[in-house]
Amino acid sequence: MVNQQRTPIGHNGGMFEPKDVQVPPLDMMRLSPLIGPERLDHLVRAVAETREALGKATVWNVSSTEIGGGVAEMLHILVGYAKGSAIDTRWVVVQGDGEFFQITKRLHNRLHGAAGDKGELGRFEGEHYRSVTDANALALVERVRSGDVVVLHDPQTAGLAGELARRGVRVMWRCHIGTERSNAFTEEAWSFLAPYLQTCRAFVFSHQDFVPLRLAGADVWIIPPSIDPYTPKNRTLTRAKSTMLLARIGFVGGSSTKTASDGAADPVVIGGSGPMEPVDQLVVQVSRWDRLKDMQGVLEGFAGRLAGRAGLHLALVGPAVGAVSDDPEGEKVLQECVSAWEGLSALQRRAIRLVTLPMADMEENALMVNVVQRHASVVVQKSIEEGFGLTVAEAMWKSRPVVASAVGGIVQQVAPGTGLLLEDPKDLGVFGDTLAGLLERPQDMARMGRRARRHIRANFLSDRHLLAFAHLVDHVARS
Ligand code: UDP
Repeated sequence: MVNQQRTPIGHNGGMFEPKDVQVPPLDMMRLSPLIGPERLDHLVRAVAETREALGKATVWNVSSTEIGGGVAEMLHILVGYAKGSAIDTRWVVVQGDGEFFQITKRLHNRLHGAAGDKGELGRFEGEHYRSVTDANALALVERVRSGDVVVLHDPQTAGLAGELARRGVRVMWRCHIGTERSNAFTEEAWSFLAPYLQTCRAFVFSHQDFVPLRLAGADVWIIPPSIDPYTPKNRTLTRAKSTMLLARIGFVGGSSTKTASDGAADPVVIGGSGPMEPVDQLVVQVSRWDRLKDMQGVLEGFAGRLAGRAGLHLALVGPAVGAVSDDPEGEKVLQECVSAWEGLSALQRRAIRLVTLPMADMEENALMVNVVQRHASVVVQKSIEEGFGLTVAEAMWKSRPVVASAVGGIVQQVAPGTGLLLEDPKDLGVFGDTLAGLLERPQDMARMGRRARRHIRANFLSDRHLLAFAHLVDHVARS
């Protein structure tokens, strides 16, 4: 809880100043071989109309981190294509202190219907949140012009809406998280955010079921995120590059894996039995160290049902903790996973490894995620709640069969025949059985993988996202 004696941060506009994220422009023409002339043509025309609607106005994106997590992943691409299409687009990241990000992580968890921590979202948290977002807003209004379009992403930035709107800026709020159900936690979070959302002209959610009742009648858009096939995260890798990357994380021979004391520039691997054999099977979950991703549940479900089978491995892969500035819980959640791993038998510990990937070089980090996903026999995403779950689309694009929870945006992605959905993500027995059953059916796995790739190509590549975004910006710019 916030110390009651604390003096709120002054409205000096300088203490927490949003930081620019540099994004190189991307040419949407590069998507042509994958999406064909009709889809491309549609996109080109929509983008031209949006450009015209905007005139001299700039489109700003405001988020809370440039690395780590799906929003950052998605913005690098969306902003890149928008810039490449001659839409003046910027991306800035709000700044805050540890307490601010603790409060916003609490909001994040509660919008997902979970407590997160024991802290409150009361008067003092409200004052601190307002102080930090006001300081960011006052710095940003020096740069944003009346008539510009600003997209605020997630709870961390909602507090900027009022000040921007007062200056004649067209503000919308895009919420990437949520849950289908409503409970005391979701209500608490929505009540906290509601006053800040009043001046937003439009709202964007990834999923219709995430829209709270209190936004009934508002201008709400449903836009799922997407993945880009040409980024380091998703592009095809040569055999030599794959081997080099896999060796770097100790999955194949020639490992250059370091231990935890070797510093932030290297992957750190806890557990496992060293390099894998080419015939071995690997189950992978890639995610932030966030309790709602349930890495520990994956570990326990796998350990209970599958660990010890010859040639079968589980890798839980996430970012180096401390690297993702808006996610203060990472270190604790990783530690909980390590403790759970330590409690396993020697046989289970040899089958299960926990991997943290360095975030200092984002291209290398993305390439490592890419190779891990490609190397997997099955990719798991056993989230308790999930906004969208880009990791699912990433795996499906790589023709991997997925076993994933039937929650949030995952349900949109895993169409029948493209993967297996877990109705109750907390049922570890069913999870273990589902995984075990699938691993015994290599032909089904291959068929699912092929269908999964086709499904992502049809629905979740960057052009779909850019098109929806262009329509939205066009609408707001003309309103
Ligand atoms: N990710 C990454 N490095 C890691 C762990 C995750 O680049 O060590 C990426 C992952 O590949 C995906 C994003 O972070 O692109 C996570 O997005 P998702 O929508 O799955 O979940 P979020 O973190 O936004 O809740």
